[in-house]
Amino acid sequence: MAGILAGKKALIFGVANDRSIAWAVARELHAQGAELAFTYAGEVLEKRVRPLAEGIGSTIVLPCDVTRDQEIEAVFQEVGRRWGGLDILVHAIAFARKEDLSQPYVQTGREGFHTALDISSYSLVVLTRHAAELMKGRGGAVVTLTYMGSEKVVPNYNVMGVAKAALEASVRYLAHDLGPEGIRVNAISAGPVKTLAASGIAGFRDMLHLVSERAPLRRNVDPAEIGRTAVYLVSDLGSGVTGETLHVDAGYNVMGM
Ligand code: NAP
Repeated sequence: MAGILAGKKALIFGVANDRSIAWAVARELHAQGAELAFTYAGEVLEKRVRPLAEGIGSTIVLPCDVTRDQEIEAVFQEVGRRWGGLDILVHAIAFARKEDLSQPYVQTGREGFHTALDISSYSLVVLTRHAAELMKGRGGAVVTLTYMGSEKVVPNYNVMGVAKAALEASVRYLAHDLGPEGIRVNAISAGPVKTLAASGIAGFRDMLHLVSERAPLRRNVDPAEIGRTAVYLVSDLGSGVTGETLHVDAGYNVMGM
């Protein structure tokens, strides 16, 4: 299929179901001709992810819990074996314990803090390190998903806001490390989208409503808009952009009152 990503190979982490932002990104990359590989986080999800992947002609669907280094290594080994290299990494993974997304932030325990930062922030570092090995000599692009709760207080987002702040800082440091190899690293700061992960945040429906009333565009974002921004960032359209966090939120983040 022709398209601005024709011939490019993309590995996608974070599809849980057809509502996942990672799936919206996958569809847009596929529409631009990229060949895709997927990971899933558990047996339950395999049943959802495999049919979605196969529906767009993808034959590489691998298990990967990002808290397990062995599973991460196995994924990149297999992708290297099948493709001989990699052009694009999509990281759309986050997790925090439910209680840490409802009780006051000051109550966050050590374990909950570590879990959120490990899965939601450190995972980008380790996945990018492995991806960079497969991108050697050909350049590449990494894109991750973040949220404005990293910059401003969003009630109940709590430890996830702190994890996203670390994620965005990691994007800048990774961009610096890998720029000399022609590998770009960027983040999309998406407005709220109704997904499985979002349903864990207390008061999420109110967030959607508030954005639709107050954002400059007076609506919420469509996941396809996030996907098309990912196409821009990982394709030649975004060839001069790295270390950036780009808001795709109907403009909500610019409002002060
Ligand atoms: P989602 O469909 O629930 O996707 C989250 C993904 O993270 C799931 O596939 C989940 O798998 C995976 N994950 C969690 N723990 C994992 C682990 N240990 N190893 C591997 N994968 C793991 O929700 P989403 O909203 O699309 O989230 C995607 C990204 O977008 C996240 O980084 C999120 O913070 C970000 N984001 C979301 C919004 C929003 O409003 N939805 C806004 C801005 C940014 P399991 O289901 O198995 O845990």
